[in-house]
Amino acid sequence: MVVRKHVVAIDGPAGVGKTSTSKLVAGRLGYVYVDTGALYRAVAWKFLQEGVKLSDKKRLRDVLKGMSLQVKPERNRLRILIGGKDVTNRLRSRKITGLSSKVAAIAAVRKFLVEIQRKAGKKGGVVMEGRDIGTVIFPATPYKFFLTASIEMRAMRRYLELKGQGRDVVLSEIKRDIIARDRRDRGRKISPLRRAKDAVLVDSTNITMREVVNCIVSKIK
Ligand code: C5P
Repeated sequence: MVVRKHVVAIDGPAGVGKTSTSKLVAGRLGYVYVDTGALYRAVAWKFLQEGVKLSDKKRLRDVLKGMSLQVKPERNRLRILIGGKDVTNRLRSRKITGLSSKVAAIAAVRKFLVEIQRKAGKKGGVVMEGRDIGTVIFPATPYKFFLTASIEMRAMRRYLELKGQGRDVVLSEIKRDIIARDRRDRGRKISPLRRAKDAVLVDSTNITMREVVNCIVSKIK
């Protein structure tokens, strides 16, 4: 029997646990996992390298035109290559994080990344996480989830995660950054962050990651 492989769309605001959840769901289903936020981060990184001003639309389009961006899903992680160079580990700084949501509001950037994301999910068997996967990238998939959690819980989880990596972080700054990023993501004109009408809402404020994963996997199965 041929088992059809689908695209599972997992959207939601910053710090809600999309990445950890998506990796675990992909592991349970035997799917690959694609973190689309990493693509916006990669564009932000490239713009920083090239000294692109976001107000300079012509320069910005030229840089995108010459940008070779590759996505390599591997077991339990996603590698991002720019011009053949692996930049995966350079995309998580506070500066790139903040800039990514600014570049994500630019039409030319979104247009550039739409095709890359659709190509990555074309064959199915993918858990794709982001902000607009269920609304714009794969609106026809029947497997859509929208994760949510209180801002306090999201800030605390992100704080503990970064602390655990030995990073010098302040809880109030993390909370402020998350609120600012969400505001930009929800407020932009193109593909704003919102729940697709047919997405299952999963509030993880008072449940564990394992429970979130079980809930998603059981809905799919
Ligand atoms: O998910 P992550 O926090 O890595 O995403 C970084 C930024 O990329 C988000 O704040 C958002 O502005 C943008 N993004 C987006 N659409 C997606 C994924 C990410 O606009 N599908």
